[in-house]
Amino acid sequence: MSAADLPLRDDLRGMHAYGAPQLDVPYQLNTNENPYGPSPALQKAIADAVAGVAGTLNRYPDRDAVSLRAGLASYLGHGLSVGQVWAANGSNEIIQQLLQAFGGPGRTAMGFEPSYSMHPLISRVTCTGWISGTRDAGYGLATAAEQVRAAQPDIVFITSPNNPTGTAVPLELLADVYDASPGIVIIDEAYAEFGRDGTPSALTLLSGRPRLVVTRTMSKAFAAAGTRLGYLAADPAVIEALLLVRLPYHLSTVTQAVAQAALAASGELLSSVNALRTERDALVEWLRGQGLKAADSDANFVLFGTFGDRHKVWQALLDRGVLIRETGPEGWLRVTVGTPGEMAAFRAALTEVL
Ligand code: PMP
Repeated sequence: MSAADLPLRDDLRGMHAYGAPQLDVPYQLNTNENPYGPSPALQKAIADAVAGVAGTLNRYPDRDAVSLRAGLASYLGHGLSVGQVWAANGSNEIIQQLLQAFGGPGRTAMGFEPSYSMHPLISRVTCTGWISGTRDAGYGLATAAEQVRAAQPDIVFITSPNNPTGTAVPLELLADVYDASPGIVIIDEAYAEFGRDGTPSALTLLSGRPRLVVTRTMSKAFAAAGTRLGYLAADPAVIEALLLVRLPYHLSTVTQAVAQAALAASGELLSSVNALRTERDALVEWLRGQGLKAADSDANFVLFGTFGDRHKVWQALLDRGVLIRETGPEGWLRVTVGTPGEMAAFRAALTEVL
């Protein structure tokens, strides 16, 4: 018996479940997590926050997560208020809600590959047609606005900094895509906090652009991937639309409490960002010094290559206890930036493999 033997939706037949391998190896550098776990003091603050709400778990949570959203708005700054911020279980759920509200049967979403593979995947499972836009030779988006004008999709996805290439997209280009688009434009800024100096956020474009949505997550810079907390900033009308599709009480009381404890400790959590940026820049230099190509990165990972047989390199690294990601354009591999110790292990393993 398998799923295919059941009366499964026709369009799901033949699909495979998505997910990077979760292997028990010494160096896990494949899902762009933050390697720095919470300090003992923060672990206690999180435990206290959960204890503080434990006695209320017979009740449903605040359906609209108002106090968490207020905290997220104040973290984002840019004059944003609670009515312009929405939260869900990871930015993946945020993306799913956006597609449920603005995509669906008979509608299309467009993205520019290589980019985050969940954009086309969640489009597909929400019955939204996918239009695959193209990038220029350096994986840039110089012709994106032109392509959007021609295709007229209901939703456009742009990931900035892009995953897996790592590079941020200039704001003028995002504004051009918005002007060319008839629908919702989603800027996925999961890695925004890691940008190189002078990399601006699309949050600065929100004013006067009611169809623009900027998504963020606590999974990366905030070192809280296990909390499952994603969020967005947009016009309040977008959030009004999402209220139509979200499941009631989608964010548990525990999730809201833990996310608020993490927000209260944003100073500690974000302090790893600078260390990771420094480690990343050194890694890019080192890779180039080995005669390899490495894409400019504004994120906590680096795309590097190119290899005639990338799978062989990936496997040889794994054999040495280093798990990276076999993703991106043919011949390239992606490595998450870890602690100095993890990066030393990666460099030593790669040197051996090469
Ligand atoms: N967007 C991008 C570009 C990502 O790389 C990821 C995670 N890999 C996500 C969104 C989803 O993150 P989460 O659901 O943990 O917020």
